[in-house]
Amino acid sequence: MSNIPALLRFDAVTPLRDATARWRDAGERIVLVPTMGALHDGHLALMAQARRIGRRVVASIFVNPTQFGPNEDFSRYPRDLETDLALLAAAGIDAAYLPDVETMYPPGFSTRIEVTGLTEGLCGAFRPGHFSGVATVVTKLVNQVRPDIALFGEKDYQQLQVITRTMRDLDIPVEIRGVPTLREADGLALSSRNRYLTPEERAIAPRLQSMLSRIARELVAGGQATGLVASGIAELKQAGFSPVQYLAVCDAETLAPVERVASPARVLVAAYLGRTRLIDNVEVVPEA
Ligand code: AMP
Repeated sequence: MSNIPALLRFDAVTPLRDATARWRDAGERIVLVPTMGALHDGHLALMAQARRIGRRVVASIFVNPTQFGPNEDFSRYPRDLETDLALLAAAGIDAAYLPDVETMYPPGFSTRIEVTGLTEGLCGAFRPGHFSGVATVVTKLVNQVRPDIALFGEKDYQQLQVITRTMRDLDIPVEIRGVPTLREADGLALSSRNRYLTPEERAIAPRLQSMLSRIARELVAGGQATGLVASGIAELKQAGFSPVQYLAVCDAETLAPVERVASPARVLVAAYLGRTRLIDNVEVVPEA
């Protein structure tokens, strides 16, 4: 017999709320990990972290249509619920929350959360409406579960900052924590979209991270963003990425562009390899 307790499953708000209310009343710390499923080891790193810091862990799986643009991969986004549930059970997660689109967006649904400023550059410039969809769905998930803490990957760094700002601006009582990006041995950040890559593209993909790390090192050594960004874009194009949507050096919190790094910063990139859009980012910590 396994000593892992059975994974609870909820697909409606009321029974989910009843369960989390009981845990809250018992003084148990609740951690929420929102996902879109097709779980990989990066997601499982978030689950393990949640397990360490919380008495109760709720993982949500919801492929949120409002954060996909009309020409994006919503309909072909990978879905594998039975495998996901087995992985969550093995990770010792207490509850899987699996709402359908009607539950999250019932007829007449008409509210959207817009975060200004932070969402205008980087991915926001190429994915109109994306962060509004993310901010809205995460606000709903947090209000439904009412966790003490919600975990998000630094892999989606702009998303992490947008959600942190949303919760702060709307006085939603939850602590948002980022978890470092889990990578393959060759440096490629784990992503549900990596499965779209052909073997040839998969071999090229780690160049994204090696380029980011080089730029981060050169920034710490006193380099300037403009020249480094130009050389990074050229390197990616040479390797076969096309188009390179952006490569930028930004303040780690405000995401405003910076030319020289004097306080914590981030180098962020989005580029296509064939039909697959990859994003990644690394931190830049200036020497004291
Ligand atoms: P997704 O299912 O793509 O929406 O991702 C769910 C959560 O897992 C988000 O907070 C992501 O940032 C996070 N995540 C995705 N890939 C990784 C990774 N390689 N390392 C750490 N966290 C990740």
